[in-house]
Amino acid sequence: MKYIASVSFGKDSLAMLLLLIEKKCPLDEVVFYDTGMEFQAIYNIRDKILPILKENNIKYVELKPDKPFEYTMFEKPVLKRNGTTSKGYSWCGGRCRWGTTEKLKKIEKYCRGNYEYVGIAYDEPRRLEKERKGNKLFPLAEWKMTEKDCLNYCYEKGFNWLEDGIELYSILDRVSCWCCANKNLKELKNYYKHLPEYWNRLKKFQSKTNRPFKYNKYTIEDLEKKFKEDKDEL
Ligand code: SF4
Repeated sequence: MKYIASVSFGKDSLAMLLLLIEKKCPLDEVVFYDTGMEFQAIYNIRDKILPILKENNIKYVELKPDKPFEYTMFEKPVLKRNGTTSKGYSWCGGRCRWGTTEKLKKIEKYCRGNYEYVGIAYDEPRRLEKERKGNKLFPLAEWKMTEKDCLNYCYEKGFNWLEDGIELYSILDRVSCWCCANKNLKELKNYYKHLPEYWNRLKKFQSKTNRPFKYNKYTIEDLEKKFKEDKDEL
C-alpha cells in the first residue's frame, strides 16, 4: 500500500505536507485536485512545492473535474424534477456543493486501497470525527497542530498566499475556490475592498445565472451596493 497525501495547498494541508517531509514519514505521492477555480496564490504555492517533491522522490499527481467548472456551473444541461432542462448547476456552495461532491469522489477513487494523509487540524474535532474511516490518516491531529499552528508553521517556512500584495489568510477565513458561495459577508466585503479582480469575476459569473449568490437572495450587485454604503449586515 502506498502513502498518499491529499493536498489543497491551503494552510493545513501544506503544513501537513511540509511536516511529513521534515519528519521523514512514509510518503509516496501527493495528490492535488485542481477545480480550475483556485486563487493564483494556490497555484504559486504548488509551483514552489513541486521541486521539493522532486528532491524527495515523491510523485505528484493532479486530478481535475471531468468538465471545466465553469461549464458545469453555467452550460451543462441539467434535468430538473419537473422534467425541464436548465443550463448548469449555478453557484457551488451551501446545500448545492456539486463541485465538492465530484472532488471528494475523485480523490477517494484515486486513493482507494492506499493510506491517505488528510490535513484536518487538531482543533476541528467534528470534521475529524466525520472523516475517520478507511485508511485515512490524520497526522495534524496526532501532532496536536491547530489551524493557527499550521498557518504559523507555513509562514515560518516562507510560504504566503499573496494576491496583489494582500495575504489571503489576513482577509479570508478559508482559501477555497474564489467563486465559492460559502464565503461569508466579511470575506465578501474583503473581496470587494482588496481583490477587485476576483470581485469583477464574480460579477461576470452573476451575469450568467439568475440565482443570487448569497442566501439565495442577494446578487453580487446587491452586495456591492451594500458594501458601497458600508453596511455589514444584510
Ligand atoms: S470550495 Fe466551494 S466552490 Fe469550491 S468545490 Fe467546495 S463548495 Fe464548491
